[in-house]
Amino acid sequence: MPSQDPHALLAGVRLRPGTDPVDVRVRDGKIAEIGAHLRRSGALVHDGGGALVIPGLWDAHVHFGQWAATTRRVDVSDTAAPEEVTARIARHIAETDLEPGAVVQGFGWRITDWDRLPTTAELDDVAGDHPVVLISGDCHAGWLSSAAFRALGRPHRPGPLDEDDWFPIYTHLTDLPEDPRDVHGSIDAAMRDAAAKGVVGIVDMEFESGRTAWPWRTAAGLDRLHVRTCTYPEGLEDVIAARVRSGDVLDEAGMVTMGPLKIISDGSLNTRTAWCCDPFLGDVSLGDPRGKQNVDREELTELLARAHAHGLVGAVHAIGDAALLDAVAAFAASGARGSIEHAQLVRREVLPRMAELGLVASVQPAHLLDDRDSTEDLWPDRLERCFALRWMVQAGVPLRLGSDAPVAPLDPWLAMAAAVHRSADEREPWAPEQALTPQEALAASTDGITSIEVGGPGDLVLLDDDPAREDLHGTAEQAAHLRRMRPLATFVRGRITHSR
Ligand SMILES: [Zn+2]
Repeated sequence: MPSQDPHALLAGVRLRPGTDPVDVRVRDGKIAEIGAHLRRSGALVHDGGGALVIPGLWDAHVHFGQWAATTRRVDVSDTAAPEEVTARIARHIAETDLEPGAVVQGFGWRITDWDRLPTTAELDDVAGDHPVVLISGDCHAGWLSSAAFRALGRPHRPGPLDEDDWFPIYTHLTDLPEDPRDVHGSIDAAMRDAAAKGVVGIVDMEFESGRTAWPWRTAAGLDRLHVRTCTYPEGLEDVIAARVRSGDVLDEAGMVTMGPLKIISDGSLNTRTAWCCDPFLGDVSLGDPRGKQNVDREELTELLARAHAHGLVGAVHAIGDAALLDAVAAFAASGARGSIEHAQLVRREVLPRMAELGLVASVQPAHLLDDRDSTEDLWPDRLERCFALRWMVQAGVPLRLGSDAPVAPLDPWLAMAAAVHRSADEREPWAPEQALTPQEALAASTDGITSIEVGGPGDLVLLDDDPAREDLHGTAEQAAHLRRMRPLATFVRGRITHSR
């Protein structure tokens, strides 16, 4: 299909700090020419004013619809007990002019510091006829009111739902009645916000079928980002039947491509369901002390082999170290390639094998800020093996940074800051020996593109400062500097998607 992209010229930009400005021509979505004083006729000229140009940023793990939906949800992330959550919901219902029976969604509760489990009954006391759905901060558990169970046609439960009961509901939250204009508007706003941070593409791990939703969205003008959309095992046979392979373009605009088969092999830290070699420590136990294996090695191998035979790469969610061992073994046995998602707790000895297989570690450094306290409670005996980014680099494992939004905000600068200075507050960095340099963090945020070259993608970001300033090396100020970075302009295939 002939490209509709205008032919753009970024005039007067620096490829490296301190070098002379050059012009960069982008044609048909790719860098066509780089040089001083390129011919301007026929080009849409953007004056770079000497700005630094870097490759566009990618978020390698997002739940985009859920992220956009957070703007329509009650934030309960700062609550410390079930009573605080119900009080917040009661206030929201009292203060908002809701239709009778309108749905209320909330997000962000975390059970880690609570001394008891919440109940459906206490939520009913404040919810009345409103279906209330409260998503946990790591998205791995749900707390629902009785009216929500009825609205969703699901069996009533006396308390919060674990993954087995929750995920089927979470994947169908879009069935709850919401105003479609709100949905479109929130996705547009989330895309503009991402572009303002220099993001040009995402790997979308949304549960609902992105393969149909995204082409519809780009056709409706929601086209500021490249999107790689995944499938889950439930959708795998449909993808195979449609003969769609990873990398295939799915929409008219050429912005949406098929991504991986995503498989959630274990749970999460905060719900104590990450599948570990050693038991969790701490008091409240919700089952097996070593966590929970959702898919065993054999089934994982079968799924990956089937995907591989039909041209799909894999993306295996593995948070605990036992899950990581199984995932790497399953990739090796199946011949499939792809990524380990999260790899939050590792065993160092498996990393060389990951590198040998070319498996990408798709990691979310900002989680280390949120998970620091829970890790100290639940995994105090293995702190140095969490978010072991330095070990991964040393072993030669390719790194990709992401947010797992809505678990953390879709902000690559926040992820980079957490990767280089592992502290969100006044505390000393957590296991500073595992930190990345800013250059490494940036290189892990650009989808494998590490230089601006002819033939490379026309996905570019202009900055008014060097993100990797030498003089800040190893300081908290370096992280603050990264968090403050806001691009002057962002281009996707030469088309401007943000300017300031
Ligand atoms: Zn995720």
